[in-house]
Amino acid sequence: MGTAKRSTKKQQASTTGRLPDPGTIRRHVEDAYATCRDDHGGQVADYIPGLAQTPADLFGICFAAVDGQVYEQGDVEVPFSIQSISKPFVYALVCEAVGHTEARERLGVNGTGLPFDSVMAVELHEERTMNPLVNAGAIATTSLVPGDTVEDKWQLVLRGLSRFAGRDLELDEEILASESESNRRNRGIAHLLRGYDQLYFDPDGTTEVYTRQCSIAVTVHDLAIMAATLADGGVNPVTGERVVDAGTSRRVLAVMATAGMYERSGDWLYEVGLPGKSGVSGGIVTVSPGKGGLGTFSPPLDDAGNSVRGQRATRELSERLGLNLFASGEPIVDGDMDDPR
Ligand code: GLU
Repeated sequence: MGTAKRSTKKQQASTTGRLPDPGTIRRHVEDAYATCRDDHGGQVADYIPGLAQTPADLFGICFAAVDGQVYEQGDVEVPFSIQSISKPFVYALVCEAVGHTEARERLGVNGTGLPFDSVMAVELHEERTMNPLVNAGAIATTSLVPGDTVEDKWQLVLRGLSRFAGRDLELDEEILASESESNRRNRGIAHLLRGYDQLYFDPDGTTEVYTRQCSIAVTVHDLAIMAATLADGGVNPVTGERVVDAGTSRRVLAVMATAGMYERSGDWLYEVGLPGKSGVSGGIVTVSPGKGGLGTFSPPLDDAGNSVRGQRATRELSERLGLNLFASGEPIVDGDMDDPR
């Protein structure tokens, strides 16, 4: 009896334990929103001209538990382009199509230590693509999406990401037009990879599909459901549909943990202790395996390209809700965030 009691307590406190009760989750989501709302650090991305006009004060947080319950606060229904957050989900679709072993062999799963759109990373590493979450690997991933034409591949991506979100997603045409005008660097990376025989479809066609996938419009609510699908081993907790298998889900999370937050992926894992992926439009998805998915949206970014308010809110919720994969102590419910256990 004594042992059983001790192990129950331990289970609640550990990463494999349960989430707090719904009232507590709601309170922490509201608190994280209130605490981070007045942080005015960071700059809205402008290298894609269409992003530069996004209001800097937009801020939304949504946590979707694997039981399908949703807790949200702020601008949760404002659409924005998914950008790099599409990358892990397209990688998941490719793992389903070619198997995670072949996907890893062709694309790699290690960090580059270089910026996400680095051409030097392709030249420096003999493998050419290092992982599916920086542009070279992500563009190569898109080239592996099944389909003989741009349209076939695009439909598979759009339908696949829609299944993760549990609704029919659409393109943000304005962002697509703006990014298509300014994506010469990505086109260059696609041609360079083709030159190394590491791209598996026509370079311009691949760049077209890649640019469209980055221009899919999502809300922070969608991001939370997409993340919760990975948290639930590939099953969308709202629609109940299996989108990818559990083995794929697990590998996608591993890649997110090592390379999801640009050159700050190590810092992120150190502080937040969860797989995450951010995008230049200001979104972040974070996955707590077996527990739920967190989406945040706030456009101002730090110099690595990660949303300032989003990182802060996620760090806070990881501690308060006991999500950190590496924590062995009880969650910090009201304690000092600067001294996490
Ligand atoms: N579409 C953007 C690019 O490829 C995505 C960048 C990002 O969100 O990191 O430049």
